[in-house]
Amino acid sequence: MIITPKIRGFICTTSHPEGCAAHVQQQIDYVQAQPPLKNPPKRVLVVGASTGYGLASRIVPAFGGGAATLGVFFEKEPTEKKSASAGWYNSAAFEEAAAAAGLYAKSFNGDAFSHEMKKLVIAAIQADLGQIDMIVYSLASPRRVDPDTGEIYKSCLKPTGETFTNKNLNTDKKEIESVTIEPANEDEIAQTVRVMGGEDWKLWIDALADAGVLAEGFKTVAYNYIGPEVTWAIYTDGTIGRAKLHLEKTAEDMNTRFGDKTALVSVNKALVTQASSAIPVVPLYISLLYKVMKSKGLHEGCIEQIQRLFADHYDASNGPTLDDKGRVRIDDWEMRADVQAEVAKVWNEVTTENLDALADFAGYRQEFHRLFGFGLPGIDYDAEVDPQRKIPSIPAPVA
Ligand code: NAD
Repeated sequence: MIITPKIRGFICTTSHPEGCAAHVQQQIDYVQAQPPLKNPPKRVLVVGASTGYGLASRIVPAFGGGAATLGVFFEKEPTEKKSASAGWYNSAAFEEAAAAAGLYAKSFNGDAFSHEMKKLVIAAIQADLGQIDMIVYSLASPRRVDPDTGEIYKSCLKPTGETFTNKNLNTDKKEIESVTIEPANEDEIAQTVRVMGGEDWKLWIDALADAGVLAEGFKTVAYNYIGPEVTWAIYTDGTIGRAKLHLEKTAEDMNTRFGDKTALVSVNKALVTQASSAIPVVPLYISLLYKVMKSKGLHEGCIEQIQRLFADHYDASNGPTLDDKGRVRIDDWEMRADVQAEVAKVWNEVTTENLDALADFAGYRQEFHRLFGFGLPGIDYDAEVDPQRKIPSIPAPVA
């Protein structure tokens, strides 16, 4: 079939197997062009490993440090008539490249929140690796099924406290419009915390510890975002920010149990991913941010960010550098005063008419397309392509 992008809002319902493979290969090439990691974890589990920050967190230790990796994700397999979701193709390409490089890689497609998935992964660790040295927790999900009760929690992206009105970018129409979002109620806040907070991260670490598969001195990291004031009402002070506070508290509790700096939260840069495109206001902020950061030669994508996390923090002789709240800050370049001053200025000025002059909307759109394997160089998008791709290590599907 010929696969073209089918985009509505922040969703693209198609993805291109060869384009996704090229996107993964670009990230591998980037990592291989950097100096090898000096002190890499050798056995790494990534939960949320198929796209965005999690995929980069699988590629960096594998191709920069020779790590064996286990990746957990929830993606749609291809059918004869329909392409798979991008994370499926990304993971197929990752495994193929890992095999060619002689690296162990095993993937699990199913619900990371379930007890069954944890048991499957632990069994694979016991059978193949014995123990693991690092767990990256990079899930972004709109819902979670409680593994004990079956109750479904839904996360939402709303302010807390007051109604929020601000500029927003309608990415379909390429128009700046005003968005107003009513505040979440207590139940919506609580449900978002159950989905995106640290509860499931802790369940993973507890299950791995109980099974005796955590190596002495193991590390675990999860990701957060802070950003500038224009995004606070919807992010840091919103429902998702409440969940991230819970994530940070979970890291503190893990450190009390396992030792200082075992569990860290890394604050990462705002980037175009499937998860971030769904957050109101953020696509406009990202478009303005990209323009400023590119003009200063500071722009990074997921792979550059995670390369810096491993090389500058985990490789450092005295371990990661932390802020006053105990977090790693790879959003440091985004949050530089000169960058933020310029973004704040253009935030006030930007309109539909001057969008192309003030923002990098073309860059935003290009990156969004690339998430689904479209717009990659060297791919003939007019050619017939077989949507079937196998992920060699995938065991029987998990509910
Ligand atoms: P993403 O949408 O690219 O990736 C989400 C991953 O979670 C995918 O691998 C997906 O398959 C997996 N997943 C979702 N539900 C699952 C389930 N039930 N079981 C198994 N796997 C499941 O998201 P991302 O933007 O890379 O976000 C990853 C983390 O980084 C999140 O914690 C996010 O808050 C954080 N973060 C993102 C940004 C950003 O701008 N994108 C910035 C800072 C921090």
